[in-house]
Amino acid sequence: MKLGKIAEICYNITTSYLNLPGNTDIIISTQKAILTTKHQLLDDAFARWSPLNGDISFSYNGGKDCQVLLLIYLSCLWEFFLNTIKGSQYGGNSHQFPLFELPTVFIDQEETFSTIKAFVEDTSDRYGLSLYESSRNDTVKMSMAMAFEHYLSLHQETKAIVIGIRHSDPFGENLKYIQETDSGWPEFMRIQPILHWNLSNIWSFLLYSGEPICGLYGVGYTSLGGLNNTLPNPYLKLSDNTEEKKSEFEWELNHRFENQKLELEIHPNDRAILDTFSNKYKPGWYLTDEKLERAGRLKKT
Ligand code: ATP
Repeated sequence: MKLGKIAEICYNITTSYLNLPGNTDIIISTQKAILTTKHQLLDDAFARWSPLNGDISFSYNGGKDCQVLLLIYLSCLWEFFLNTIKGSQYGGNSHQFPLFELPTVFIDQEETFSTIKAFVEDTSDRYGLSLYESSRNDTVKMSMAMAFEHYLSLHQETKAIVIGIRHSDPFGENLKYIQETDSGWPEFMRIQPILHWNLSNIWSFLLYSGEPICGLYGVGYTSLGGLNNTLPNPYLKLSDNTEEKKSEFEWELNHRFENQKLELEIHPNDRAILDTFSNKYKPGWYLTDEKLERAGRLKKT
């Protein structure tokens, strides 16, 4: 899909969510979270770096947090574009959206689920991303910092990178929404506009959005990691005889944007592993306690 078209769709999704009647506390707090993110992007980040000329790249791994941020980022891109043509004597339709693809970086260093890889590639087409995938070298393991350094050497125009980290993520507590990288990292500015979002905000917006979601979340994963160090979240294991409660997001699931069916695809390569979990775990959105979000991640040895 063309970037301008998908940016407009994301704008419609975001606007539709902002216009929902606030019939749950989660929806009300998510609406506030979106407004803060929009302000940080439109009034601060886009005032410092143009989002339309390659200054800003997006870091994306198909996870729920960066997908939410991508939807809102694209929505803001559309709003920014509309503002640039406001007052023009020509109508909006005669202006071409000036960015062809969104520069995006995916660091693929671990052995990855085929489901994640396929999701990143499918959504890369869907969201008009120009996807850089770090090349995996089985003999020399590149750190995340080295992989970003390589990306920057190829994209020297990059000044800032958008990251979907939240305060409740490891090392996220004291971050600011715009800041430089730490020492030991290549120099660029980090734009982190969903720090203030909680897990319920993420699921409420994502489940409402009508967009496909990475299939691992459907079988009990709550945070995406490597093939050898991530399992479904043990706190979502179904018990045999207790009656299971519904999730907190039934309203969102029943009122998805434009009634889109929820797609959670599993890649055939992962079926052997993931079929052993299906019907044994509740979907990822049944867990909203951030302290338990990474309980399915095994400690690296
Ligand atoms: P989840 O926690 O469910 O996996 P997520 O991957 O979006 O969702 P985190 O794992 O907390 O969230 O990662 C925070 C952010 O860091 C991501 O949203 C993304 O912007 C960036 N990021 C993480 N891993 C990668 C990666 N391998 N390549 C590119 N960006 C990444």
